[in-house]
Amino acid sequence: MRNHPKHYCGVFGVYGHPRAAELTYFGLYALQHRGQESAGIVSWDGKEFHTHKDMGLVPAVFPPAKLKELPGSMAVGHTRYSTTGSSRLVNAQPLTVDCVRGRIAIAHNGNLTNADKLRDELEESGSIFQTTVDSEIILHLLAQPSLKGEKNNLLQTLHRIEGAYSLVIMTEQELIGVRDPHGFRPLCLGKVDDAWVIASETCALDLVEAKFVREVEPGEVVVINKNGLSSTQAFPAHKRKAFCIFEYVYFARPDSTIADRSVYKVRVELGRQLAREFPIEADVVVPVPDSGNCAALGYSLESGIPFEMAFVRNHYVGRSFLQPKQLFRDAAVRVKLNLIKELVKDRRVIVVDDSIVRGTTTKIRVNNLKQAGAKEVHVLVSCPPHVNPCVYGVDFPDKSKLMAANMTLEGIRQFLNADSVNYLSQEGMVQATGRPRTEFCMACYDGDYPVAYETGLSKHAIEQRAGRLSRLSDDLVTERAQIKLL
Ligand code: SF4
Repeated sequence: MRNHPKHYCGVFGVYGHPRAAELTYFGLYALQHRGQESAGIVSWDGKEFHTHKDMGLVPAVFPPAKLKELPGSMAVGHTRYSTTGSSRLVNAQPLTVDCVRGRIAIAHNGNLTNADKLRDELEESGSIFQTTVDSEIILHLLAQPSLKGEKNNLLQTLHRIEGAYSLVIMTEQELIGVRDPHGFRPLCLGKVDDAWVIASETCALDLVEAKFVREVEPGEVVVINKNGLSSTQAFPAHKRKAFCIFEYVYFARPDSTIADRSVYKVRVELGRQLAREFPIEADVVVPVPDSGNCAALGYSLESGIPFEMAFVRNHYVGRSFLQPKQLFRDAAVRVKLNLIKELVKDRRVIVVDDSIVRGTTTKIRVNNLKQAGAKEVHVLVSCPPHVNPCVYGVDFPDKSKLMAANMTLEGIRQFLNADSVNYLSQEGMVQATGRPRTEFCMACYDGDYPVAYETGLSKHAIEQRAGRLSRLSDDLVTERAQIKLL
């Protein structure tokens, strides 16, 4: 069972480059950590949209021959993990529509918190949905020529949707980048010569040799067309900022920079802060790779306790790994990380990870260390306990399955069979970012949700609703059939 919440999505767009799709391919490659279920690119060659999407990792979805089928100087791409809707090809992005405004393609990172209500309204007014993802709602809203008697436009649409969204939108003339007014998800701008690039993270700019220009600000709409780049602030400035602090802790790649702060450096600082809050007498600091590497290094640097990579990660474990339950226990966990026993035998070990969600994997790690002869095992977590689910696009389990929401610290220690367990404080986490707490969403830690959400919001909410509707229509068909028979 996985120990970490799943990433959500990565978005990427290019304007004005003769090999836009190729650039997008490399951009998605760099953003693969944000979603591994499906990938897609839509390009525009001045006449047509060309689309290719499929399930799987970026290199598998785009063999070289496929990229050749995506000509043009403008493209938008998406790599997906399903935070709403199930993992099916129909839900892969970018999504496209051909409407009175011409063709539109959209790539979305985040979760809308009023999706159910909007979908109801749209369906009542005749919209027919092709997918079960909330991103399609944005497309339908955009496609409407008028709204309540007024001429509709992108700003009107943005004022109707709520929640977390970083968007890259492609029309026949423009590439558009949008960030929700709270700035939950990152989005940045870069340039390769005269071409513009929009990406979820700066690591994607690096791979395509784009120069970082700046971040798209919360609530900002940037439009790039033949006249260059123009910017509009779509929301009043007093909207509360709420960047997802978990991007710094776990999601973003350590080689990305967000809000002028290197993610790597923030994570090392999280580890240093852990050492200041929990000075433990031990012989070695061991990370759970890769997520705990930077924080464990920080702890080691601050405390002076040696750092060892005692867990070795197998980078080639795919999703298709069979679980030979009958043959040996915990195979799925051990195939990913193997332990170098000599590094921990007869030693007091501090093991550092970035989060414990369900606790099952951590329990196995502690057990591995004890079986290898560790004298003591102290578990340190480089963020506070996760006690609430996320409704803004991170796939945490519901509260009943979040270990820290249901157990005391002592209960967790006993469950993990560790000698001690400690989590970084909320203040310590914020301090490590070097930014004020008022700039962050920390709802999964402190329960303060910056944007209200529909109760019952879940990854499959739209599908469950669609399922109810289809059962309802099945019932109607049966009813009609009975009438005929009568
Ligand atoms: Fe990030 Fe947690 Fe807020 Fe979700 S609830 S956006 S994971 S900080």
